[in-house]
Amino acid sequence: MSDKSKINRVETPIDQRETFVSLSKNFSEGSLSVSEKLQVLYALQQTDNEIGKIINLRGALPQEVETVEEELTSLKAKIASIREFIGGLEAEVEAHKQGIVDVDAEYNRYHEQLGKVANSREFDSINKELENLGYERQIHEKNIGELRMLIAEKKDAIEIINDRITIREEDLNAKKAELENIVSSTADEEKALLDKRAKYSSQLDERTLSAYDRIRASVHNHLAVVSVYENSCGGCFNAITPQRLVDIASGNKLVICENCGRILVNPLANAE
Ligand SMILES: [Zn+2]
Repeated sequence: MSDKSKINRVETPIDQRETFVSLSKNFSEGSLSVSEKLQVLYALQQTDNEIGKIINLRGALPQEVETVEEELTSLKAKIASIREFIGGLEAEVEAHKQGIVDVDAEYNRYHEQLGKVANSREFDSINKELENLGYERQIHEKNIGELRMLIAEKKDAIEIINDRITIREEDLNAKKAELENIVSSTADEEKALLDKRAKYSSQLDERTLSAYDRIRASVHNHLAVVSVYENSCGGCFNAITPQRLVDIASGNKLVICENCGRILVNPLANAE
């Protein structure tokens, strides 16, 4: 019964392998003081929020560009496979053409013999051969006709795909141009923020950074470090006990939200 209520209390899906809780014992270690570390974490979170806003400006465009690029790749692969198929059909046409050449040569040979026949039996036999060769030639011609029709159909199919490619390439170029426009308009700002991010990251030890990144990735609002909001956690809005509020306000204690696992900070502490 009590076990069940415990399980139900775990609401926010946070990866438990490396959390701020598992780091808390070692949090005061390293070159930074606890309050400095908290300030760096908060600054890192603020920087990531700003980077997030820039990324959000791009909306669905990066995904759309990727989708169109994938479609184009698949359309081009389709054309390549149809071309290969046509190549096979053309080889068959050539084989039948050669068949006709061979049939004609044989026909001429028999036809010459026809003038030199000794009896009517031989005459009938040669005529039978000539007749058969005539059928054989017709079959080759029929096959060539059918193959050429199939080749024409396949070429039409390529044309239809090519039209689709032209349209999608125009879409792609428009989307890319739009995206590049947005990216370049925020490039300087983004560069500055990424530099800032690198600076803050370098000040933190690997485990803290890994916990920060993991929690940020696992929660919907991408906040791993939050401030207090009306005596509640700014991440999950669960109430914070008065003693913990005092600890947070001091700015030199690691306080982790018991409900969501986010770090709670006082942004104003030591910010002089
Ligand atoms: Zn919380």
